Amino acid sequence: MPPARKLLRFPVCEVVLLLLFLKCETCARNLDVGENAIDRQNPENLQDDFVGKELTKRAVTEDQAVEREAEPFKDYTGWQMLRIFPPSTSVLDQVLTSLEVDPRVVVLGVFKAQLAIDVALSPTTPLEAVLSPAHQPNLCNLDDKKSFRLKDPISPRKISRQCSDKRSPENETKSLGNGRKDKNSDNFLGWKTVDGFLSPRSARQHNVTQPLSWDDYYRYDSMVLFIQRLANEYSTVEYLEIGKSFEGRPLLALVFALRPAQMVKQYRKSILKNRRLRNRESENPSTEKKRHKRKTNKKKKNTKTFVFIEAGIHAREWISPAMATFLAQQLADAGRKFLRRVTVIVAPMANPDGYEFSHTTDRMWRKNRRETPDSACRGVDLNRNWAKAWGSSGSSGDPCSDTYRGVEAFSEPETQALRDLALAWMEKISLYLSFHSYGNFVLHPWSYSESPSSKERLLKKVAKRIRKHMKRNGYPDFKGGQTGDILYQASGTSEDYMHDAGVQYAYTIELPHYSFILDPENILPVSTAVWRTLVCTIGIVAKKQSVLAFCKKRLVKIQLKNGKTASGWFDKKLPLEEAEQSIMERYNMTEKRRAKDDVKRNLFLSDLK
Ligand SMILES: [Zn+2]
Repeated sequence: MPPARKLLRFPVCEVVLLLLFLKCETCARNLDVGENAIDRQNPENLQDDFVGKELTKRAVTEDQAVEREAEPFKDYTGWQMLRIFPPSTSVLDQVLTSLEVDPRVVVLGVFKAQLAIDVALSPTTPLEAVLSPAHQPNLCNLDDKKSFRLKDPISPRKISRQCSDKRSPENETKSLGNGRKDKNSDNFLGWKTVDGFLSPRSARQHNVTQPLSWDDYYRYDSMVLFIQRLANEYSTVEYLEIGKSFEGRPLLALVFALRPAQMVKQYRKSILKNRRLRNRESENPSTEKKRHKRKTNKKKKNTKTFVFIEAGIHAREWISPAMATFLAQQLADAGRKFLRRVTVIVAPMANPDGYEFSHTTDRMWRKNRRETPDSACRGVDLNRNWAKAWGSSGSSGDPCSDTYRGVEAFSEPETQALRDLALAWMEKISLYLSFHSYGNFVLHPWSYSESPSSKERLLKKVAKRIRKHMKRNGYPDFKGGQTGDILYQASGTSEDYMHDAGVQYAYTIELPHYSFILDPENILPVSTAVWRTLVCTIGIVAKKQSVLAFCKKRLVKIQLKNGKTASGWFDKKLPLEEAEQSIMERYNMTEKRRAKDDVKRNLFLSDLK
């Protein structure tokens, strides 16, 4: 007898169960803030949640909007963006330490290889005021030095020379006070203002009738609708709800494959399997190691090239999710011919709570919106929350820090969801790309350490090709290297986790330009460059001529009268008009064939009658 009918016979029982259920729901909300939202759900509900086509706009916005407290908009008007050039790594460390704890400063980026720190500085605060007096070198404004370009690394000697040209009497006195250090270039710290800062245009609000057109930074609601629409329109696209963010927003990922529904099933199966394994591990921790060993030793089934793309893990880096949705559209239009050889997963918005908060309240917000042990500070840096080297240097235990790692590895629903998504196909994934902004870098593991990966040679080889293609597509400044060397040591990153779990080619891409506050006009050029680079990179990783061939082609699309698009791959040398004409002819032929088939079918049906 079905349990529902039993309940009807025992109304008291039903009421008790209902009360228990409500109570459990409440306590779950209070206690399991770090638990994966998926784990809270019944397996029976998984199907609905994951296929999730019925996801409504209400689920995304209204429910949470009521619960979230409104915070005043943080006004950055007049804040200056500076690039600071410490003369040595040790000075960089000291300067960074004093900047990170200062509320008058937002650290925007640390570029160790270039000896540079980018900061936003409150308008009423001089730079001297935020540096630790114990380690304060002589300051020197490099703004008027013509030879100097922002992207150039600047040598300590150069800073010393340029600064000593125009030393103020005040600096002279300080230098004398430091005695011997005067001759040492460590005593100078250069800085330069960066243009084009702090005119954040508010992004488009939700607009149901209009599809994303990459002319602006869209809000999360619009992205959700875009994702749903893509899955509805294309037979090669499916979307998954991989969890819920801390504030309850759905975390979505897109699957691009010949049979995407099959992938949804695989994912669902993997979730249940991993949950069982995790439960067993919590009872007996020694099994964890075994599982990991088995996982990494498993040979990759190289039938197709499997790519995993993650974007938007840092809230304020708006161009990253904008670019990822563009990639998603391209992958949908790439068609079955492309997907016969390649399977791609895209998680275009890994941190929706932070992203929305960066739109509504604080443009400089980086983390998610988790409540922390320190009631004054919120948020965990989702790119310091992964298990590889979690908690080691290169992250912070201070909840107020922008690189706060959380209370334990994978404490956040957002990182849990991404991990579980990757675990469904870990043995197959050969290329992992995590998109960030900014800096023009392709970075490879390890980020937690300066020692190289055992796969360093291969990682560098593919990174070189990524750089080459980004340069060819309009970004000549693209550079590369090991994350720990180029930027700064960072522990608990997605790149390290994926590489450690067996993904040979795992990269962090710092998208072009020198600020994450970019005019929306940059979205299309950056996204197009990344798309072209991606197609060629997949070819290199696949090591198959049939996949590499796409690198020499381009994806051409035409808009049809019915509002749909038709597309095809053509040799780059073929004039665009000819390519478009060819698509049109092919489309007309298919339509004719379809009409013929319809006539035949109708005749057959009328015969039956
Ligand atoms: Zn980032």
